[in-house]
Amino acid sequence: SAKKSMSKDIVVYSEKLKQASQRRLFLENALKNAIEQNQLEVFLQPIFDIESKEVIKAEALLRWHLNGETISPVEFIPIAERSDLINTIGRWVFATVCDIQVRLSEQGVKLPITVNFSPKQIYDLHLINFFRHQIEEHHIDPDLLELEVTEGVLINNYNKVKLFLEEIKDTGIHISVDDFGTGYCSLSYLKHLPIDTLKIDRSFIEDIDDNEDDRAIVNAIIAMAHSLNLSVIAEGVETQAQQQYLIDHKCHIAQGFMYGRPMPVTDFIANIQNNNQHQGKH
Ligand code: C2E
Ligand code: MG
Ligand code: MG
Ligand code: MG
Repeated sequence: SAKKSMSKDIVVYSEKLKQASQRRLFLENALKNAIEQNQLEVFLQPIFDIESKEVIKAEALLRWHLNGETISPVEFIPIAERSDLINTIGRWVFATVCDIQVRLSEQGVKLPITVNFSPKQIYDLHLINFFRHQIEEHHIDPDLLELEVTEGVLINNYNKVKLFLEEIKDTGIHISVDDFGTGYCSLSYLKHLPIDTLKIDRSFIEDIDDNEDDRAIVNAIIAMAHSLNLSVIAEGVETQAQQQYLIDHKCHIAQGFMYGRPMPVTDFIANIQNNNQHQGKH
């Protein structure tokens, strides 16, 4: 009967919930040791200039290797954010990206790397001192570092965030707004914050070929960026058609599987040297 099958659904559902919460607990515990156990790795994904056909930047994307499985940041970053672990992990990622910059410069590669920034890290006391210290210790040009903050960060706590971003700017680190278009950031916010770049969220690029609304949003973001003198990057570009749309609408910086997936640093270095050679550069 319908009633019987519904109660069966409820049993299955609550069993699923139980499994999900058990996995979360398990992961939260395991995550506490992930850094000491060397389980975290920073991957790099190229950001590409469509006009010059050169990789002009890279995004640092975290991976967690646990018992032969690679766990997605989509799953473990929210877990880290619910505890204080995100602060430790966020600092670790920044320090690791500084290490990577040293490696790149040893290979003669000068390339800005962007680091994702969790809203919770606003409350990490002395974080900016930590950044300064890492930059000095590694002898890095802060021009080669960029924080990606999400739009949500900008809207909540506007005054605190403005101060925080201004202090970041003082260190020389650049700032971009990630997943742009998904929040409700107004033009006047953008104008008064020390932002360099807008990254158009992948969800708007995905259906750009046949979704009128997505096209309108993408066009508006590009226009907004140009009028505020910000650079603009399209995320999640996978097809020629999407790329052509961007070229036609004056967005020539893109990131997506079409240009390269996130990959280990060693592979990234090999690829970029190869690519730049093909472009006649060394
Ligand atoms: P995000 O910052 O928006 O990063 C872009 C995500 O889109 C990455 O997923 C990347 O692999 C994926 N992506 C790039 N191009 C394409 C494409 O053409 N098609 C598709 N389908 N996907 C594409 P990933 O690496 O799984 O990271 C997911 C999210 O996890 C990131 O989104 C970011 O919010 C968060 N994250 C990753 N690393 C860190 C970190 O070190 N710290 C913090 N706080 N968050 C991180
Ligand atoms: Mg990002
Ligand atoms: Mg993004
Ligand atoms: Mg995201």
